[in-house]
Amino acid sequence: MSDPARPRIEIFDTTLRDGSQLEGISLTVEDKLRIAEQLDWLGIQWIEGGWPGANPKDEEFFRRARTELRLTTSTLVAFGSTRRVAGRVDDDPTLRNLVEAGTAAVCIVGKTWDYHVLEALQTDLAEGVAMVADSVEHLRGHGLEVMFDAEHFFDGYRRNPEYALRVLEAAAERGASTLVLCDTNGGSLPFEVEQVVAEVVAHFRDDVVVAMHTHDDTGCAVANALAGVRGGARQVQGTINGIGERTGNCNLTTVIPNLQLKMGFDVLAPERLQRLTQVAHHLAELENLPLSPQAPYVGSSAFAHKAGLHVSAIAKAPDAYEHTSPALVGNGTRFVVSEMAGRATIKLKAKELGIELDGKAQGEVIDELKRLEHEGYHFEAADASLELLLRRAAGWEHDFFTLESMRVITDELPNGSFTTEATVKVHVGDTRYVEVAEGNGPVNAIDRALRLALQPAYPALGRVHLTDYKVRVLDTGSGTGAVVRVLIDSTDGTRGWSTIGVSENIIEASWQALADSLVYGLLHSADDRPH
Ligand SMILES: [Zn+2]
Repeated sequence: MSDPARPRIEIFDTTLRDGSQLEGISLTVEDKLRIAEQLDWLGIQWIEGGWPGANPKDEEFFRRARTELRLTTSTLVAFGSTRRVAGRVDDDPTLRNLVEAGTAAVCIVGKTWDYHVLEALQTDLAEGVAMVADSVEHLRGHGLEVMFDAEHFFDGYRRNPEYALRVLEAAAERGASTLVLCDTNGGSLPFEVEQVVAEVVAHFRDDVVVAMHTHDDTGCAVANALAGVRGGARQVQGTINGIGERTGNCNLTTVIPNLQLKMGFDVLAPERLQRLTQVAHHLAELENLPLSPQAPYVGSSAFAHKAGLHVSAIAKAPDAYEHTSPALVGNGTRFVVSEMAGRATIKLKAKELGIELDGKAQGEVIDELKRLEHEGYHFEAADASLELLLRRAAGWEHDFFTLESMRVITDELPNGSFTTEATVKVHVGDTRYVEVAEGNGPVNAIDRALRLALQPAYPALGRVHLTDYKVRVLDTGSGTGAVVRVLIDSTDGTRGWSTIGVSENIIEASWQALADSLVYGLLHSADDRPH
């Protein structure tokens, strides 16, 4: 439960609106609905769904949201702009679309930088103010909660603070609940942001909520949001995993734990904060954007410790080495194992995975790791292959399938394009399967053929798919005779894992990594996990 003694910070998520501006991202309406459900599950107060009327997708999203989304903690917000220059509110299409979106709250963007009013809108400053005032009043008249999004506020305030404040006042007087101070081009720095926000908050006192909307162009989006909160802002806007155009938006997966765990604000109930890592990974998956292992708090390396002298010390007193407890955000301490690993690391890793290894087996694992890493394996980057190696050392052998043989053929067609076909022969229990599949490359073709064979017996594999495939040539001296290392990242939609293969033959290396991936996926397919 939330603690009433701690001041509250509202979180406003704009993953579906500003986040979808990221180059290369393309969300379907289905994706957007699933993302909204995740945000609600996490406990975000406001979800900006998009700009109704701007494109058919956003329109369909709001239409389907009305019947298909059952939000329990979040309120959906529609985004739009103020009325047009010299236009009327009652025949303005943007405002009409906002009303028709059917949300309880809307957020409208308007200009607070005099230069933009004069140059971009080509109108006078009085009309600039009236556009905001009229639009807020009109939407309030339709019973909507209205947030005013002050575009380029920090730049505008720096050059003409009187005008920037006059626009905010107009919005507040006509009933806007929230004034969103936007660092639209992301050029501000934390110390100036804190000062400006403090001035705005002092000006409006408790009449309105002041919100922060920051972009990461100086690498300070999160720092600027925190500075704004120190200045008195009580709402922070951003996106999960920081996605957004150019360098991205304020990263909610970083700013939320900072506000709650470091600054003492009440942001999410503790049991919801524990969902943060899972939601970050789930959204990355839905968006098809691999999450950086180094993402603060939620990345897979965020609490990873490399083998060394102090591994056993970390196990005894984690707070001596970690800036916060990873469990608070749903992450975990991870011991990274490599050829440098000593017995203590292997013991800890086995314990972390729930594997019993006696002293003899531990010694064998260390020898095996050294041998494999010398050949070119790199287990730090392949947690799932490492787990399988430890399990085998403990006497386990998987019986999901056995490979009899595999063949890959690539043809160049007369038009210059290539086709690849794989044939796999595998045994699942007493049944022998011979399957053929085409793919856009050898790994894809093998993966498809193997799935055709395995899926009837293991429907859970339907959820498992490959998210990344990396090849690295290890011995560049000997050209095509060199050893290659293949790394495959896979996911089942909630958890991700990495596997490795090494060989002089790229197909063989790929097969090793692929087989490990599927074995790991099958091994854990029955794990009980929420969502
Ligand atoms: Zn923005």
